[in-house]
Amino acid sequence: MRAVPEICLSLTGPTIRENLARLERYRPYIDLVELRADLLEQAEFGAIGRFPELAGVPAVLAVRKEQDGGRFGGGEDERRALFEAAFAARERGFAYLELEEEVPVPPGARRAVEEGMTRIIRARYCGAGVPVDLRNASHGLSRGTEIPKLVTAPRSTAELLALYGCAKADPADGRGPGERILYGTGPFGFPSRVLASRFGSRFVYTEPAEHDDPPGVLDPETLAVTYRFRELTDRTRLFGIIGDPVLHSRSPAIHNPAFTRLGFDAVYVPFPLDDIAQFLPLAEAFGIEGLSVTVPHKERVIPYLAAIDDAVAKTGACNTVIKTEAGFRGCNTDVYGFLTPLIAALRSRGAVTSDGSRSGGALRGITASVIGAGGAARSVVYALRSEGASVLILNRTPERAARLADEFGCSWAPLDEAGFTAMERFRDIVVQTTTAGMTPYEDEDPAAGFHFTGTEIAYDIVYHPPLTRFLSRAKDAGCTVIGGLEMLLHQGYRQFYLFTGQPYPEP
Ligand code: NAP
Repeated sequence: MRAVPEICLSLTGPTIRENLARLERYRPYIDLVELRADLLEQAEFGAIGRFPELAGVPAVLAVRKEQDGGRFGGGEDERRALFEAAFAARERGFAYLELEEEVPVPPGARRAVEEGMTRIIRARYCGAGVPVDLRNASHGLSRGTEIPKLVTAPRSTAELLALYGCAKADPADGRGPGERILYGTGPFGFPSRVLASRFGSRFVYTEPAEHDDPPGVLDPETLAVTYRFRELTDRTRLFGIIGDPVLHSRSPAIHNPAFTRLGFDAVYVPFPLDDIAQFLPLAEAFGIEGLSVTVPHKERVIPYLAAIDDAVAKTGACNTVIKTEAGFRGCNTDVYGFLTPLIAALRSRGAVTSDGSRSGGALRGITASVIGAGGAARSVVYALRSEGASVLILNRTPERAARLADEFGCSWAPLDEAGFTAMERFRDIVVQTTTAGMTPYEDEDPAAGFHFTGTEIAYDIVYHPPLTRFLSRAKDAGCTVIGGLEMLLHQGYRQFYLFTGQPYPEP
């Protein structure tokens, strides 16, 4: 049985006190901490030796040099003096000391190492990319009880796969299980950290979450709770999302907690995918059973699928792929996600029957205006038409509106005064599908010239911000309003059903 990797919190604060406060916040979720002494203020150096005692969990001491991405600018003599001070205490000391491969164990730490109180981590930072001969890069890195640590920076999905191939080929680096540290940094390395057990890494490094973090920072609580890190085994089923970029996606926070609530042994991981040709190799290598697909791959993925649903064929957009015996089947859950809150709103007005059905479609006899003619508008127009609504499409570039209208049997108009007048005859539902109004374009309202009477259902599929200018105007006029978050959640709930065969369990 594979050892469960330990969660290490990397402490990069300027003072011991601040680092201890960060540790306290995450204590329930971590197994050990790494003190990045190269980031401490110089005045703190004298207190480093007392840190393990104060921390109360096993501690790694790392004084990373500038060439390895650290900030220690001093010479080797200064670093040695720091190590001496750090290992002066005889009682509880550092459980691990990180050193580069060529650096001898400092005399002060030698006794702690010989007595088995401290283990040496032999680190090699490979810089940008993944070395072609990764196995040789890690071999010979360490001796005896030393733990080899190889840190790479994959720049592409292909490089992540190369790293994983190496991890699989030599799962323990010729040592006992989990007796090495191996991971990739940056967005493309993200899966190697969440799936550290599959990479056979002894530790996974995490950081405290800050408000203005770039996407992809992994904090211990998210790893332990959202990704169920400690429960992941070889039998855990793997799902995820592919896109570029993808680490900002909210989908892991939709799917993972639901797996936990159902007791369904699965994990949902974001996989940055820069080249669609890597989709099948990625899915195959990790044994992925289902994926959400996001920008820019919703169309590009289609040629790689063994089968597609009618909605994918008609919209040309696939946002979900499910593994079958024949290969991956492509589905479009945006259509379901869009319709579900809309039909619920109509039902509460008595405009559709209680089960949402009518012969000829749930929206037969209902008129709708759709602002925009981009990718998302295709799914919206398909959804409205497949349920029998009469649709007018308006777009800034009128030719695109005309083309979409022609394809789905709709009316069309330019997005101007003439178009707003035409909307008078298509106003039961008004759907906003453009990127205008979305962060950072919060001040925009592409339908500003259209006046709501309060009888319309106004639907903005933009979900960031939750209340766009368009929607706020409709709300003030007394309309029923639906925000894009509803669509996002319902398309996710449908994906969850396709992944697991079970309805999404409400929190
Ligand atoms: P897209 O394919 O790039 O289409 C953009 C559309 O916006 C085009 O019709 C474009 O008109 C129009 N547009 C852009 N700027 C405009 C402006 N200043 N004034 C008027 N029209 C403007 O984008 P998409 O993939 O369809 O996505 C559109 C929005 O839907 C995004 O905000 C996305 O987040 C959201 N979305 C939400 C969900 C959900 O689940 N809630 C799902 C999918 C998408 P032109 O043709 O003239 O350029």
